[in-house]
Amino acid sequence: ASFGFRTVPEDMKESLVKQVFNSVASKYDLMNDASSMGVHRLWKDDFVSKLDPGRKGPLRCIDVAGGTGDIALRILDHAREKYADRETTVEVSDINAEMLKEGYKRFKKTMYHNTPQVSFHEANAQEMSAFKDNTYDLYTIAFGIRNCTSIPDVLSEAYRVLKPGGTFACLEFSKVNNPILSTLYDQYSFSVIPLMGTILAGDRDSYQYLVESIRKFPPQPTFAQMIRDAGFKTGPDVDGGAWTDQWGGIACVHTGVKI
Ligand code: SAM
Repeated sequence: ASFGFRTVPEDMKESLVKQVFNSVASKYDLMNDASSMGVHRLWKDDFVSKLDPGRKGPLRCIDVAGGTGDIALRILDHAREKYADRETTVEVSDINAEMLKEGYKRFKKTMYHNTPQVSFHEANAQEMSAFKDNTYDLYTIAFGIRNCTSIPDVLSEAYRVLKPGGTFACLEFSKVNNPILSTLYDQYSFSVIPLMGTILAGDRDSYQYLVESIRKFPPQPTFAQMIRDAGFKTGPDVDGGAWTDQWGGIACVHTGVKI
C-alpha cells in the first residue's frame, strides 16, 4: 500500500495481533477515545440499542473479541435500564488475557461483578471448542473480526455456537463510499492515529497495524456474502438490509440470523 506501510504476512498475523493488543491493553480505552474523538462510543451505543437486548426476555449472549468489555457492559446496562432485566448474561471472550484483565478490573466497579451476568474467557474466535453448539441467543463481535486470520472460521464458529434463530451481529470498520469523506478519513487515519499512538501509548507500530487492518477488511457486500456462506440468513445487499453503515461506512453493522 501507499503511505509507506508494511504489509503483514498472514502466517505472522496471529502472533502480531496478540503482541499489538498486549502492548496497548492498558491504554486501549484511552486510545479508542482519542483516536475516534469519542465517536466509537456512539457507534457502540447505536449497535447495542438496535439489537435491543432484553426486549424479548433475557438473552444468553457471547461477546467475542470482547476486549475490555465495552459491548458486554452496554448489553447488560441496556437490558437492565430498559427492561429491568437482570437475567441477561454475557460471556466475554478474547484471545488476549491482558485485554480480559482490563475488562475484569472494569467490571469490578459495576453491579455485575460477582454475578452470573458476566464472565471472562480466553479463546480464539476461530476455534471456540470450549463453547457448546446451539447455546447463545446473541453473538456480538465489535472491532475484532478484522484482526482474525480466517474470517470464514470465525463465522462458522459463530454459527455453531448460536441457537437456531439466534443473531450474529458484527460492528466493524468498513468501506467509506463517499469519495470526499474517504479522502479525509484516509488522511486522518494514516497520519493522526499513529501519531496519537506514539504520544499517548508510546507505540506507533501497533496503531499503524490497526489502521492497515481496517484497509484490508472486505467491503460491505463481500462481507455480507461471507456471512451467508457461513449459513446465516441476512437482509438484502443494501445499506439498511444485510448491513447498516454508520457515518458513511467508517463503521458498519452486519447482522445475520442462524436458520
Ligand atoms: N470488542 C472490543 C471493543 O469494541 O472495544 C475490543 C475490540 S479490540 C479493537 C479487538 C480485540 O480483538 C482485542 O481485544 C484482541 O485481543 C481481540 N482479538 C484479536 N484476534 C482475536 C482472535 N483471533 N480471537 C479472539 N479475539 C481476538
